[in-house]
Amino acid sequence: MPSSNALFYLTTKDMPLVSHADGIYLWDTDGRRYIDGCSGAITCNIGHNHPTVKRAMVEQLDKVAFTYRTQFESQVALDLANKLVERTDADLQKVFFVGSGSEAVESAIKLAVQYFLVEGQPERSKFVSLRPSYHGSTLGALGLTGYEPLEAPYRSATIGSVKVPSPDLYRFREANVEEHIAVVLEQTERAIEAAGPETVAAIVVEPVGGASTGGRMFTRSYMEGLRALCDRYGCLLIMDEVLSGMGRTGAWFAYQHYGVAPDILALAKGLGSGYYPIAAMMARQELVDAVGRGGGFMHGHTYAGNPLACATGLAVIEVMDSENLVSNAAEQGFYLRQRLEQLAEKYSCVGNVRGIGLLQGVELVQNKLTRQSFPSEFNAFERITVLAKERGLLIYPRRCLDGLAGDHVLITPPLTVTTDDIDAIIALFDLSLADFEQIAK
Ligand code: PLP
Repeated sequence: MPSSNALFYLTTKDMPLVSHADGIYLWDTDGRRYIDGCSGAITCNIGHNHPTVKRAMVEQLDKVAFTYRTQFESQVALDLANKLVERTDADLQKVFFVGSGSEAVESAIKLAVQYFLVEGQPERSKFVSLRPSYHGSTLGALGLTGYEPLEAPYRSATIGSVKVPSPDLYRFREANVEEHIAVVLEQTERAIEAAGPETVAAIVVEPVGGASTGGRMFTRSYMEGLRALCDRYGCLLIMDEVLSGMGRTGAWFAYQHYGVAPDILALAKGLGSGYYPIAAMMARQELVDAVGRGGGFMHGHTYAGNPLACATGLAVIEVMDSENLVSNAAEQGFYLRQRLEQLAEKYSCVGNVRGIGLLQGVELVQNKLTRQSFPSEFNAFERITVLAKERGLLIYPRRCLDGLAGDHVLITPPLTVTTDDIDAIIALFDLSLADFEQIAK
């Protein structure tokens, strides 16, 4: 007999059946309404049910949904690639479309390896990444990931990477932030030296942490320091903006806040805003030219760059432009931050609010003074998320990684939010925190 629920994902808990969605709201089949306070998985940047995107998708379906990228080029793919390049301020001139964030990271790994192969440095195949970090669920991307609960079970099957500490602007022990950054950069350099600098292909970093660190930001000096290490040791700088890219932080790409550009960039989530799977790897011209001289990039996926995906991405950018969503993310993100800081003053369980634009993280602590996390078996991240959902608010949870990052949630609504929407989100989060403090006593 087939089981009544043949689907299986990470969770075995009962979930509501979704009925429909509009703007920042979703409804279940019992008629309950939820505010999408996290854009699903920080994905639905333009909100749900947007007529422009739906229209563009149907128009494309009426023409052609799928072509294979080695048989036909499509105008929508060319146009989308150009629009992305324009938005990087021309730091990155080439675009390779794929279907998911993990695939974008895999593509970045393979482009770096193939580049050095062609350049006569075949020994450069190691990657340096941060702990904590999250880079995806496929084996290459998982190997870069510094997030034990997801990565440890598969460690023997992944290629792995050299893990270096991530700067932690909340719990650092040095006298000031700059001293902390200097220590972390020093540790990173030592790790590169220990691995053999001639074997390192790239340093990989999320310019603003998402799922792993809940909106952790770095300083400009840190990003400049990583760039300097790459230049000193001849390796590439890969930035994973699967979550932080496409306007979420109040700039088209989070790296633009630091003024430090990568050699390769991974994008996903906001690119198709969840209407259709699309992701991209962007790279400097020189890398792609070199790989071209070596016979071309030995990589690709069946669904990569198909017209329906690209038409969706183009329409999403059209909406972002016509509704000024990047500047709205900056403006409303500032307001959201202020409101979250007020909650941090009100509740002793809120230890830290961090992030930029509409990528804001809230860390829960047992002791605000000592910044001590809740015991991991208390599952604070899950409890607050369940409480918020009961109140009709969706937020994105991550568990405590002992000593590396505490329990946190991401508050990352669609970039279309208004001040009133944020007030509504804060009102529900306020009540959820009050409920949480009751059970956390
Ligand atoms: N990289 C980052 C920074 C992410 O946040 C994610 C997903 O959350 C991924 C990669 C993997 O993307 P996907 O789930 O689309 O494979």
